[in-house]
Amino acid sequence: MSLRIVLLGPPGAGKGTQAERLVQHLKIPRIVTGDLLRAAVKNKTDLGQKAQTYMNRGELVPDELVVALIREQLSQLNSQRGFILDGFPRNIQQASALEQLTEIDLALLIDLPREEVIRRLSARRMCERCERIYNLVYQPPKREGICDACQGLLVQRSDDKPDVVAKRYDIQYNQDAQPLVESYRKRSVLVTIDGEGTIEEVFERILRVIRSYK
Ligand code: AMP
Repeated sequence: MSLRIVLLGPPGAGKGTQAERLVQHLKIPRIVTGDLLRAAVKNKTDLGQKAQTYMNRGELVPDELVVALIREQLSQLNSQRGFILDGFPRNIQQASALEQLTEIDLALLIDLPREEVIRRLSARRMCERCERIYNLVYQPPKREGICDACQGLLVQRSDDKPDVVAKRYDIQYNQDAQPLVESYRKRSVLVTIDGEGTIEEVFERILRVIRSYK
């Protein structure tokens, strides 16, 4: 089965965690714009230097930069095998650009209320060395402040601070992403699932959707 999937949902809905599981289950590649951009910032590439200010403020990086990044990533894939796009598209302009590059079979929206988004993201920590994600409430590390996998230090992403989180939700999700959700709904590829509950419960809901495509 080849499925070209776009993952949608507010930050903190568990897109990353669920996408990792889905990659293992479907054996298809995943393209994560947030990770690619963070790597560019860390490596101080041209793209990273341009993207950094927007990211620190919790704003979207300009479309032309992100679209160029996705174009390059998709050109390196054998799209016949399918893929998961995680973090792209984020607005209607990016969705139109994507349409020129590939078709989409499923737009999977993992939904979560605003208060829960803020609660989850404020408790999120990331290993500064290997970038593994933890949550102080749901998935705490074995030793406080230390990564289980590589012993690196756990830090809070600058855009996971509560005021920036609220802005990411209100602007990036409510304002920019809603027209996008509507456009996928009109194309009949949108499926919404409830993002509340445990990681396993949410993944089971996703598998139910995926099975209906087989
Ligand atoms: P994320 O890890 O997906 O929450 O992304 C972190 C940050 O990277 C966002 O707050 C944006 O500043 C930027 N970013 C990620 N994906 C995109 C995108 N598709 N378009 C514009 N900016 C993006």
